[in-house]
Amino acid sequence: MQSLRFQAIKKLGAASPANVSGSGKITGIFGENVFTLPTARQFLSDEAYKSLLASIKGGKRIDRGMASQIAAGVRQWAESKGVTHYTHWFQPLTGTTAEKHDSFFTLKSDGTALEEFDGAALIQQEPDASSFPSGGLRATFEARGYTAWDPSSPAFIMETGSGKTLCIPTVFVSYTGELLDYKGPLLKAVEALNKSAVDVCHYFDKNVSKVTATLGWEQEYFLIDEGMYNARPDLVLSGRTVFGHSPAKGQQLEDHYFGSIPERVYAFMRDFEQESYKLGIPLRTRHNEVAPAQFECAPIFEEVSVAVDHNSLLMDVMDRVARRHNLRVLVHEKPFAGINGSGKHNNWSMATDTGVNLLAPGKTPKTNLMFLTFFVNVIRAVDNYAELLRASIASAGNDHRLGANEAPPAIISVFIGQYLTKVLEDVEKRVTGKFDEQDEAILKLDLHKSIPELLLDNTDRNRTSPFAFTGNKFEFRAVGSSANCANAMTVLNAIMADTLITFKKEVDTLIEKGEKKEIAIMHVLQQYIAESKKVLFEGDGYSDAWAEEAAKRGLPNVKTTPLALDAMVQPKAKRLFENTGVYSHSELEARHEIELEKYIKKVQIESRIMGELCTSHILPGAISYQNVLINNIKGMKEIGIDESSYTNQKQILISISTHINKVSELVAQMIEARKKANNLSNTREKAIAYCDEVKGKYFDAIRYHVDKLELLVDDASWYLPKYREMLFLR
Ligand code: ADP
Ligand code: MG
Repeated sequence: MQSLRFQAIKKLGAASPANVSGSGKITGIFGENVFTLPTARQFLSDEAYKSLLASIKGGKRIDRGMASQIAAGVRQWAESKGVTHYTHWFQPLTGTTAEKHDSFFTLKSDGTALEEFDGAALIQQEPDASSFPSGGLRATFEARGYTAWDPSSPAFIMETGSGKTLCIPTVFVSYTGELLDYKGPLLKAVEALNKSAVDVCHYFDKNVSKVTATLGWEQEYFLIDEGMYNARPDLVLSGRTVFGHSPAKGQQLEDHYFGSIPERVYAFMRDFEQESYKLGIPLRTRHNEVAPAQFECAPIFEEVSVAVDHNSLLMDVMDRVARRHNLRVLVHEKPFAGINGSGKHNNWSMATDTGVNLLAPGKTPKTNLMFLTFFVNVIRAVDNYAELLRASIASAGNDHRLGANEAPPAIISVFIGQYLTKVLEDVEKRVTGKFDEQDEAILKLDLHKSIPELLLDNTDRNRTSPFAFTGNKFEFRAVGSSANCANAMTVLNAIMADTLITFKKEVDTLIEKGEKKEIAIMHVLQQYIAESKKVLFEGDGYSDAWAEEAAKRGLPNVKTTPLALDAMVQPKAKRLFENTGVYSHSELEARHEIELEKYIKKVQIESRIMGELCTSHILPGAISYQNVLINNIKGMKEIGIDESSYTNQKQILISISTHINKVSELVAQMIEARKKANNLSNTREKAIAYCDEVKGKYFDAIRYHVDKLELLVDDASWYLPKYREMLFLR
């Protein structure tokens, strides 16, 4: 039988773009599968609607009776759209989304068949969740956690084929009350930020009563043919190719970025966009990325918790829709060596209920001071908690990307552009006890005009920074493409909340001592700038010079996940999360454990698949070609051809034999290293062993020889699709 590789290549020739229906206006379908407030208005009684609204806007609790009314309305709406089942939808720490479907159908004790969805079913459900990670918080014998309705995120209908399911967004909690998902802590961090930011806003505007964090993510991904995907067990099991020689043509011509989108891909994009619009995901941009077969999409920004749900949903939808097109989406951070990996830029800001973006420069001295206050506090927060931010983006996949030459380094630094650098320098130098004219002059600057202009100037846009100010928001670029944004956003919002709490205390102390409010604020800002400016960096974040400079400045540069995660359980982190009410100590310890375990499992799977591919795919092909060469040389000798005329054939044979030998030797050693690592009982030590002793010592070493073999062995004896086939064939 022909190998899967050749079957895939053959089939590819016949592939054509799938038909995608629907070409009307986006507004015609946008949100049609979401229980939006206008929909709620239609399906709920006045009382029930008011209760839902109060919960969404003000976090008010909904009582059971009211919940039953809301549940009935939601069911009525869902049934009008052909829904028969419902599920509590949540985001467990496995990194995907989870659902367990129940039907509305029920039998009453007298045998009457009914469709029903009561308040209790809306509010709470018990998925048999013993196999979701809990980091020891929920012993498996009492396998009970429950999902609790999160009214702040609207219910939606997921269409799978012709089936439709009502999804209720929930948080996932253990019976002892610890949060076991990504969403719960995010909601707490957002609440902490709300409180502290409102307090600080009151220095400038008493009308502010709510501050929300906003997030606009940009999702990068690769798209490859399904046949190719199926012929690469490494992609199937680990999401990345563990072998593969760079193609003769990679991304050096830079002809993919913003190039025209191939037709088959275009059909896929239109299809998943339609699905996303129905779910209320406000996608706006799509384009090719730098690497071949790499693409990006981004929505209009939303309130952070909704944006997080939408990103998780989008990843689901993309995966499902791609299969309809015989394509596969790869969201791994580094599916292919030698070309760019994928990230998920998190554009983040804060907005007031009075309609002000707190990171948008103001038009008057007063609003400028408000802008500067939040702006400097962000810098302070990032500098103070750089290790924790680094930990929030740490994963086995992202380790391949952070610090590789196309991605932000593992050093957390902040880019603000030369204009704001100058403004901060001025503030740092100025501020006399009196708040004189020069100080005032700083605040009178036309920040709102000058900053966007200067940032739009390309020379002042730094793409190498992990955390960059882009005019009216910060862009956290180091987040991994497969990550749930909630992790990074929980930390970012929590450190911001904590920083603002301290800021407020310090300013109030100065005011109590008799300083004028503006001067007090400027004085604290001045001190923050002086203490935090070491985190500011405007140069090339990819350069070695920066790594050296950062070390001199004392900035942390933790390159691997097991060590980066340490920050989560340091006293500083425990204090922070306790102050902001986001995590208890035991929740932090559990999460730390879960992240380490995730890391171990990922590396373990990669290591296993590497070993298996070597013995079942690579070596058999190489050895059969080795035999061809042996017979060839034997034959030449037999018919008396002079040895000098086949020295090169012999050389090829020797090279192949050497690589074969090396591969099998290294694989055997790697298996031993794995056994040793598995024997360690301490999770952190085990993760470090997997990182250094298994991955560090063997992955690149084995790959080197396999990739050499790929170049030496007859194409027909090579079973794994090659990079050029996965990346360039359409
Ligand atoms: P680029 O960074 O590629 O130039 P844009 O600046 O237009 O693109 O925006 C990138 C993302 O940032 C988009 O998802 C956009 O909605 C989001 N964004 C814009 N303003 C804000 C904001 N105030 N808060 C959060 N995200 C924002
Ligand atoms: Mg961007």
